[in-house]
Amino acid sequence: MNQHATKAKAFIQDEARTNWHDEALWFIRAKRDQATALVAEWEALRELASGIKDHVLGNLDQYLEQFSERAIANGVQVHWARDAREHNQIVLGILQQTNATRLVKSKSMLTEECGLSDYLVENGVSVVDTDLGERIIQLREEPPSHIVLPAIHLKKEEVGELFHEHLGTPAGLSDPTQLTEAARHHLRDHLVGCDAALTGVNFAIAETGGVVVCTNEGNADMGVHSAPVQIHCMGIEKIIPRAQDLGIFIRVLARSATGQPSTVYTAHHHRPRPGTQMHIVIVDNGRTEQLGRPDFRNSLKCIRCGACMNTCPIYRRSGGHSYGTTVPGPIGSILTPGFDLKQHADLPFASTLCGSCSDVCPVKINIHEQLYQWRQAVVEAGLADPAKVQTLNLSGAILAKPWWYRITGRLARLALRWAPRWLVYNRWNTWGQDRELPPAPRESFQDWYRKKHKA
Ligand code: SF4
Repeated sequence: MNQHATKAKAFIQDEARTNWHDEALWFIRAKRDQATALVAEWEALRELASGIKDHVLGNLDQYLEQFSERAIANGVQVHWARDAREHNQIVLGILQQTNATRLVKSKSMLTEECGLSDYLVENGVSVVDTDLGERIIQLREEPPSHIVLPAIHLKKEEVGELFHEHLGTPAGLSDPTQLTEAARHHLRDHLVGCDAALTGVNFAIAETGGVVVCTNEGNADMGVHSAPVQIHCMGIEKIIPRAQDLGIFIRVLARSATGQPSTVYTAHHHRPRPGTQMHIVIVDNGRTEQLGRPDFRNSLKCIRCGACMNTCPIYRRSGGHSYGTTVPGPIGSILTPGFDLKQHADLPFASTLCGSCSDVCPVKINIHEQLYQWRQAVVEAGLADPAKVQTLNLSGAILAKPWWYRITGRLARLALRWAPRWLVYNRWNTWGQDRELPPAPRESFQDWYRKKHKA
């Protein structure tokens, strides 16, 4: 079943929401364009960032070992998780060993990917997401719809209703400043009283054994500095070789994500504060397998800026939830088929292949080419929509023979002019359910051109 198309259809039923979702993301894309235009060496930075990630992916085992050794030497406890289950068990184990029952969490798509929050709650841990957007969707009990702007699909009035219900703000309050103020007070209580703080990782520096977390709200730092136990969870691909490489990634990350010159906070965590514990959990969860696929390995260069989502015409008009994956949009559509091709076979088709995603990607991932390659993998695996395959086979046969093409074109024009409407627009013609063909011309382009050429 084509889940993306079904969910996208549900999303676009609300035309007003579809329009402002589209416009809000395009606004961010435009800010990104302005910010990058001010950096004369932008393309050189992209080239460097891409090259460094290429080098890391080719030497990942060595850099991971180096990172782990340096982190341990700094007094950090390093854990390795093969998959989501192990990751969740490790985090729970750390919390149980330190008698922590109140966890604050921020900035981690990886923990979303692993389903950590539900697992911890089932095991008696209270988990509070402290990024504003993440807290909003946590209260709504739904997944993020964007990797940088998790609640971008919601209107401020909806957030007002949610806060009225959960935080006791006045009914009808929808002023963003006042809602943010209410969230600050609510989250501050959780941050100050927490037993442990968990964050994701933007970059892990092999040379120093330290991790870097980029945020705009300061909540991740406040949690980490309040808690006696700090945990940082990272995918194996987050490594960069040296501290001096960081400047390149910091310069491209925020500009690509939101059009800011840099994130408001760029926190470096190298060792536990005296009397506290610092843990780093390094997770594979399918990444090594992706690394072994030559056509797709470079998707692991992703620094999760979200720019490919903001620019994608399909993402902007279908919403992040339509993808049914932790990471939606173009990058999600090339990452998730690697985890489970059968379940996500429709995602490589959720694209126009316009290439805008590849153009904005700060680490130069050839996203649209990989989407096309995944399509071929889907067809080869026999997972493509049979109707689509038959239609394309038939089209291929027709296009391969000019005389067949001319006859079919003539018949199609006649049918479109004279056949009863129900013969063309019926339940088998899903394309025609939301679209109208223009009136059929009387002659083909070739006929028209020949006549014109003779005259
Ligand atoms: S694929 Fe590129 S543009 Fe998309 S989120 Fe990753 S780094 Fe950003």
